[in-house]
Amino acid sequence: HHSPEDHMNSVDLEHVSKVYTGATPSVDDVSLTVGDGEFFTLLGPSGCGKSTTLRMIAGFINPTSGRIRFGDRDVTNLPPHKRDTGMVFQNYALFPHMDVATNVAYGLSMRRVAAAEKRTRVGEALEIVGLTGYADRRIDQLSGGQQQRVALARALVIQPSVLLLDEPLSNLDAKLREETRAQIREIQQRAGTTSVYVTHDQSEAMAMSDRIAVMNAGVLHQVGAPREIYRRPTTSFVARFIGRSNVLPGVVEDVEPTRIAVRLDGGEILQAPVAEGTLSADVVVGDEVALSVRPETVRLEPAPAGSGTVVGALRASVRMTEFTGSTCVIWLRYGDQDLLATIPDTDDLPAAGDEVLLRPDADRTWVVAP
Ligand code: ADP
Repeated sequence: HHSPEDHMNSVDLEHVSKVYTGATPSVDDVSLTVGDGEFFTLLGPSGCGKSTTLRMIAGFINPTSGRIRFGDRDVTNLPPHKRDTGMVFQNYALFPHMDVATNVAYGLSMRRVAAAEKRTRVGEALEIVGLTGYADRRIDQLSGGQQQRVALARALVIQPSVLLLDEPLSNLDAKLREETRAQIREIQQRAGTTSVYVTHDQSEAMAMSDRIAVMNAGVLHQVGAPREIYRRPTTSFVARFIGRSNVLPGVVEDVEPTRIAVRLDGGEILQAPVAEGTLSADVVVGDEVALSVRPETVRLEPAPAGSGTVVGALRASVRMTEFTGSTCVIWLRYGDQDLLATIPDTDDLPAAGDEVLLRPDADRTWVVAP
């Protein structure tokens, strides 16, 4: 359902902060823009400020400072019911003894929509979420996944300019969660509704989102497409939180136009690419940084005799190996740090106690803020 105002269905947060009590902000100077029709996820560990941010967008909580805009409409001081948002919560908040149609129609009844139009729109919403034929079922006769789709239909039926979803899958078991997340994504794409989704589950965020905002302790660390965040994390927190990463602290040793060399605390020198608009293009010799090395971007070789450092590689000892089917996970010890390597399965895996040389792919090593 595309209305003429479709181009206005973006969400803008400008320097938004929330201080509940004391001095520490729960949301600290967050600025971001959610594009029209975009599926945008707020991702971070419990307590990082995701729900607070979502609730400020919904209007349930007022920011301590900053502005919130929907398109060119400043909604900062508007009450929730005047913001034209649809909300889906983890606990569904459905009326369990009423039927599906009555639940879905709730927002329309509140808006005094006429009976005939109500029936049509409820029918359309149920079709969108794949529940045609369920209109007369009672909520407590549905599975958790179906209930969540009813909650989604109820939010979509009012054709909100912005759909807000707060951990909607966390009450479902693992398998149903994966199925339902794919359905939600499909439904959102079909409806084309600008959506802000909250989760602490990075794989859920990666699978569903056009873009992700990674938060920690109230601070926005990075906004980007899933692949961009995975390949080019900006901070060591993001590198560790999205997928798995070996984060190696060091000092910038040399800067060239396309390459940067970092001396690790152990004395080894590793290289990373320079890309415009990222930290790698900003650092100077002597800066303290860290390198993010994804476990699947390293090669393991037998360690040469002696104890000297090798250019572009780290000496490490094998703690244990895990066979997972398609790959093997090698747990390593490097100085006082644990490292991880995932390599294709092979018949001659290193054994616990072996000394190996871990060689990161310099093109996929990435400079991050420590
Ligand atoms: P998340 O959704 O990422 O788990 P929240 O936004 O719920 O995080 O909370 C962020 C921080 O704000 C937490 O430290 C939490 O304890 C605090 N907080 C949340 N709601 C309130 C409240 N109503 N009063 C005081 N502190 C709150």
